[in-house]
Amino acid sequence: MPEENVKVAVRVRPFNSRETTRNAVAIISMPTSQQTEIKDPSNLKAEPKKFAFDFSYWSHDGYTEGADGYLSPKSPKYADQKKVFDDLGLGVLENAWKGYNCSLFAYGQTGSGKSYSMVGYGSNKGIVPLACEELFKGIDQKRKTADKDDDFQVTLSMLEIYNEQVRDLLTTKAPGKGGLKVRQHPSKGFVVETLTTASVGSYAQIENKINEGTRNRTVASTNMNATSSRAHTIVAITFVQKQKNDAGQNMTKTSIINLVDLAGSERADSTGATGDRLKEGSAINQSLSTLGNCIKALADQSMGKKKVMVPFRDSVLTKLLQNALGGNSKTVMIAALSPADINYEETLSTLRFADRAKAIRTSAVINES
Ligand code: ADP
Ligand code: MG
Repeated sequence: MPEENVKVAVRVRPFNSRETTRNAVAIISMPTSQQTEIKDPSNLKAEPKKFAFDFSYWSHDGYTEGADGYLSPKSPKYADQKKVFDDLGLGVLENAWKGYNCSLFAYGQTGSGKSYSMVGYGSNKGIVPLACEELFKGIDQKRKTADKDDDFQVTLSMLEIYNEQVRDLLTTKAPGKGGLKVRQHPSKGFVVETLTTASVGSYAQIENKINEGTRNRTVASTNMNATSSRAHTIVAITFVQKQKNDAGQNMTKTSIINLVDLAGSERADSTGATGDRLKEGSAINQSLSTLGNCIKALADQSMGKKKVMVPFRDSVLTKLLQNALGGNSKTVMIAALSPADINYEETLSTLRFADRAKAIRTSAVINES
């Protein structure tokens, strides 16, 4: 079983209007395409904290100079959606074709660019639609030369975890009190009962379904971002290939691709939440803090501490991500960052989270029978 580290990318977005209005100063710098540095705004003269990731993505055309001129002119070039997809998305697809399970998830505070990277906005398509496009391009290509018995099937599920309850995003039917049941399957890990699986035969069909699911998401307004999702969204694509191998035997390869847009990682008190919003905030933080605990435990295990228990069962999110993080999956994480001093605490906490995730090793196997 080849062991491999989780791939970690960080991506800084441009200043938003709130930051510009408040004359925010940039505290993030990316001296190379792997290095990310952050300054403490209360002490801009001090050495920045330094991190190294598989990819550090810069979003400023040229650079906007902070009050202390901190946005480094040596920063690597602007990374657009295509660059991010080429680096991260293509590898995911390559692994899916080989029959590996793959997961890609986006972490960061509300408004930091998670959905921009995953789904994208308008013509700036993110990894999810670009990956779907590429997948069907590949399938169409294969079909041209395929044997008559060869078969390529794609099914889609889409769900949301909101207040520790699971909702099917591919139906408008209410899930009932407590949400859909999550139970342990003898071989598949934790699965969601009665979840819709939609069979999709083309890019247009999967795009339609994902748009439908996106419309069904629970959205609520907070001070951070007027239409921010306070829920975790998981798009799961199952790709099954039936092909003859060189010896003429029928083989089936299966790959589950999990694309996860996590809820905002900020503490509830920084978003001005009260009442119901606060309750959501704490449930989201409970789910995310369990994710944090799992990542810490997995990182410890990967560094040789054998007896560490990983608390996957402590939240719905980590039950469903168990395979993606601890088991049979090739995993990529994108941590989304604000460049601004006013978000220092949250951005530093995101960088630390990403730094811990780097240490995790997973051992994926090809699912072939
Ligand atoms: P999140 O999903 O983390 O709450 P969004 O992805 O919705 O945040 O991003 C918030 C805003 O910032 C959106 O208007 C989005 O278009 C913009 N944005 C985020 N990342 C980038 C980027 N890399 N380049 C340009 N604009 C971005
Ligand atoms: Mg979002």
